[in-house]
Amino acid sequence: MNRLAFIFLLISAPSFAQTRPLPGPDVQQIYNRLLPQIEKIPMFDHHAHPGFADDPDVDAMASPPGSVPLRERDTNPELIAAAKALFGYPYSDFSPDHAKWLVAKKTELKKQRGQQYFSDILDQLNIEQGVANRAMMADYLDPKRFVWVFFADSFMWPFNNERETARNADQQVYIPLQEKMLHRWMAQENLSKLPSHFADYLAFITHTLEDNQKKGAIAQKFEVAYFRTTRFSDPTREQAADVYERFVSGGIPTEREYRTFQDYIFRYLVTEGGRLHLPVHIHSAVGVGDYFNLSESNILNLESILRDTRYSSTIFAMIHGGYPYDRQAIWLAALKNVFLDTSETEILLYPSEFKHVLKQWLETFPDKITFGTDCFPYNEVLGAEESYWLGVQSSRTALAAALAEMVSEGEITEAQALHLAHGYLHDNAVGIYPGKVH
Ligand SMILES: [Zn+2]
Repeated sequence: MNRLAFIFLLISAPSFAQTRPLPGPDVQQIYNRLLPQIEKIPMFDHHAHPGFADDPDVDAMASPPGSVPLRERDTNPELIAAAKALFGYPYSDFSPDHAKWLVAKKTELKKQRGQQYFSDILDQLNIEQGVANRAMMADYLDPKRFVWVFFADSFMWPFNNERETARNADQQVYIPLQEKMLHRWMAQENLSKLPSHFADYLAFITHTLEDNQKKGAIAQKFEVAYFRTTRFSDPTREQAADVYERFVSGGIPTEREYRTFQDYIFRYLVTEGGRLHLPVHIHSAVGVGDYFNLSESNILNLESILRDTRYSSTIFAMIHGGYPYDRQAIWLAALKNVFLDTSETEILLYPSEFKHVLKQWLETFPDKITFGTDCFPYNEVLGAEESYWLGVQSSRTALAAALAEMVSEGEITEAQALHLAHGYLHDNAVGIYPGKVH
């Protein structure tokens, strides 16, 4: 090799090359090499709702009637591919007659496999362990494979909720379920009625968090964006105590009074999350329901909480990564205690578009992003099983595509690409819960 050729080789290696704005003709080949290696990486699913369609504990809320985006409709042909891959579904549609086959197949497997049924699904998809974000854990989920994340919102709705419920059709579905959840925590803590003093109410909250942690919970989850604005003011304890003690045994606080109380409780839960090493998961993207308010739930509303040094020992996982404000969201991950999860985004978007989200995130804070499926049992036919499959396939293919472009454009080497893939699919999330997950 002559000297000139040697220099040429050196400067064409990624570490010396100038990056390019377009991928080269090698991008497809790089994708083809990366994808099978990505499929071999055992994953940690950071956000999911495993369970059967007839199990009311799958979530602490339910979907109200309303519009469903194209890919989430039961007409999505990808769900047939999922049923074929997971269950050997022999048909190419979900006509009522054909769907019966799938229901019968699942029933038979449930009977045969018992607690192994959902572990089998994880095995088929190469998910090593996954979060079960559920109202309560189910005895049909193997605790070695599924770790519990419980819902903490209900502590914010202890008063007469007539006005809150009447706001719109979505709230008529949500608020009664929050009341039910609060009563379950009260039953767990042997409280027949709410304490009349605020200090005792805060103690009840803390005991619930501690007891849930003893039951194996690794984090607390908020889906508060479905129920109210995520702009939180900073009231004093005295202001919150005043509202609590005036309304705990009756009467309807004004909206402003209710929010003052809730804002304090939210911050109390976040603070306790730091003290107890109980990370805080927050729904931070668009949500279901026609009345979900995008601007009132914008992930940037939470910036004042995330950048507040009083909460620097609390770890935040921003569930669904703020979509459609994903470009802004990644800059919140600059904070050492803030992580972003991609669940739901990879289902709302097709992989060709989700690739852009992932690529920008991988190019910014690649060590702060985590994978999740947001699997959910939509109904008896389209179960959590199929949505697990869709989440996994979408994330892997979009990841391989994003990394292939980054390699082809001279940003990283293929070895670095695989390192980033391990981080996103497993290592980054597992690092949040030392000794608790693997
Ligand atoms: Zn979810």
